[in-house]
Parts: sequence; C-alpha cells; structure tokens
Amino acid sequence: MSEGRCGAVEYRPIEGTDLRVSVLGYGAAPLGDVYGRVDLAAGVRSVRAALDLGVTVIDVSPYYGRTRAETVLGRALAGVDRDAYTLAGKVGRYGLEEFDFSAARVRRSVDESLARLGTGHLDLVQVHDVEFGDLTQVVEETLPALAALRDAGKVRHVGVTGYPLAALARVAGRARLDTVLSYCHYTLLDRSLAGWAPVFAERGVAVLNASPLAMGALTARGAPPWHPAPAEVVRCCAAAAQVCARRGVALEQLALRFSVAYPGVATTFVGMPDEEQVRSNVRGALGPLDADLLAEVDRVLAPVRDRTWPSGRPENTIP
Ligand code: NAD
Repeated sequence: MSEGRCGAVEYRPIEGTDLRVSVLGYGAAPLGDVYGRVDLAAGVRSVRAALDLGVTVIDVSPYYGRTRAETVLGRALAGVDRDAYTLAGKVGRYGLEEFDFSAARVRRSVDESLARLGTGHLDLVQVHDVEFGDLTQVVEETLPALAALRDAGKVRHVGVTGYPLAALARVAGRARLDTVLSYCHYTLLDRSLAGWAPVFAERGVAVLNASPLAMGALTARGAPPWHPAPAEVVRCCAAAAQVCARRGVALEQLALRFSVAYPGVATTFVGMPDEEQVRSNVRGALGPLDADLLAEVDRVLAPVRDRTWPSGRPENTIP
C-alpha cells in the first residue's frame, strides 16, 4: 500500500478506487449528540479544525442524531472546496430499531442526505449496519439501487458497514463492493479485524476502520451508559485508563496510535466533536508506540480480549 505524508497526517489509497485519504478520519456520529450534547458552533469548529490539520475523509449517516449530524456537517462544509475532502455517507439505518433497505428509501435517503450536506455527490455510500437487514435484500435490492445512483453520478463508490465481521464478509462474497467499514474490531481491546483481512483482500474490497477508542470505552471519561460491551469489558478499560494515567500518558493517545498504525486499512474514523480533541488526536495519532506501556495495558485487557457483543439478526453473524 503506497503512502504519503503531509505535516502530522499520512495518506493512503482506498485500494481499488481513485480515492486517497488521511489515515485518521473524522467520524461524525458525535455531531448527532450520540456521546452528549454538542453545540452547533463547537461541532462546526471541530470539522473545520480537522480539515485545516490535514484530515481529508469524513464518515456520517442520517442515523446519527436522526439527521442532526448531517445538518451540522453541512454547515461545517459550506464554502469548503469540495475536492478538499472525501465524504462517506450511509443509507438503511434511521433509528435505533428503524431500518429500511428498500430501493425506494435508498433513493430518497441519498437525495435528502445530499441536500442536508450541501453537496451534489457522495464519494462513498455505505449500507449501514447490514447485520440488521435481510442480506438477500441488501444484495439484490439495496446495492443495485446504489449502483444505479452511481451511474447517475450521485454517488461514486459503494460499500457496507456493520459490527459482525461475518456479516460484512457474507455480503462481500455475494456482491461487488468497493469498501467494508468495520468498527471496534481493531483496537487495544479487539484485534479480530486482522484475522478477516485476507478474506476482504481476496474479494478485492478495501477495509475502513472505525471506533479506535471502542466507542468511548478506551477514554479517561469511560464508556457512555448505552455502551453494548459486557460490564467486565468496561471495568477492564477503566483499569487500563488508570495504568496510563499513572505513567502520565493519555489512554486515548495509546489507543489511537495503536489503531492508526495498523496498515491493513485505508483510514481509521474517530469521533472528535471538540476542537481540542481534534488537535490532540492529529498530533498524537502518529508516533512511536510505548512498548512497555502497551504490554502493561495488554495484560490488563487480556481477560476481555476480543470479547464481542450481539448485534443484528443471529443468522447474519454465522460465517
Ligand atoms: P470512537 O471510538 O471514535 O470514540 C469517540 C468518543 O471518544 C467520543 O466521545 C469522543 O468525544 C471521544 N474522544 C475522541 N478523542 C478524544 C480525546 N483525544 N480525548 C478524550 N476523548 C476523546 O467512537 P465513534 O465516534 O462511535 O466511532 C468513530 C466513527 O466511526 C463514528 O463517529 C462513525 O463515523 C463511524 N462508525 C460507524 C459505524 C457504522 O457504520 N456502523 C459504527 C461505529 C462508528
């Protein structure tokens, strides 16, 4: 995978596409107030800071805050050169238990997202959390609807996202995809994505990584109340934060460096709705890993390593 560097950020191609993106991506879920209320102006500042510091790829969904994240992002991107960023959007998930993978909804959804985001095209559209859908419908209806939108020039590339890697692999085995987005599977806690990388490589699908902080669990503040991980996982993460604090290192920095150093993905999306977090993440994402500290944190997290939680229809999670 050929790379390049500009300031504190490195760039990698999304293999099989003409896209080249920063290894640290801006994840817009928190702009939908997923981790607590984010003031509109603060959210806009965080996006602008990320772009100013060399982050070039953004992930969003109409699900995040029931369209609020897209609206805030649209405000942030107003007046920004459209060639300065790669925009990845989503279709199919609209609420905690609200899914619609039909072709008609896909077409309406993309048009509505384009309007909120203030752009004429999405560089990537991903079917959001496929494990909650009927995978045959995803393959035979949702993805063909997105292919038609690609032919119409509204979207440039097509992918799927989800938590169980088996579900992503099953769709990749039955349809032509540009990308899969996996989350919480290449972190200090869970490295199972690495075991699946050959499957996606063989199918010619590029992999995007998300949630290097395990959706807040790998932060000093700790996991949000809705976090789906078992309580023991959350407790071990809190212990890891204490180990880092004793050594004067932020767990967030160790976790981010660890994920971003993985070469098997084009980018790693992190949620950072605060300008200070953006600055500290861009500054801290690249750099040597403290091997002693990593070993100590590994020991603390070993009892829960690769522990997952249920997500979606059980039949979709069978490899
Ligand atoms: P994350 O692991 O990136 O953690 C985000 C949390 O960490 C937020 O509360 C943020 O404020 C906090 N944080 C970030 N930097 C920090 C720092 N330096 N110090 C202290 N706290 C810090 O989780 P995420 O945001 O859910 O995931 C990243 C992105 O990946 C999402 O925003 C979304 O775009 C994407 N994603 C997609 C899917 C999907 O498609 N199914 C699922 C998960 C995530």
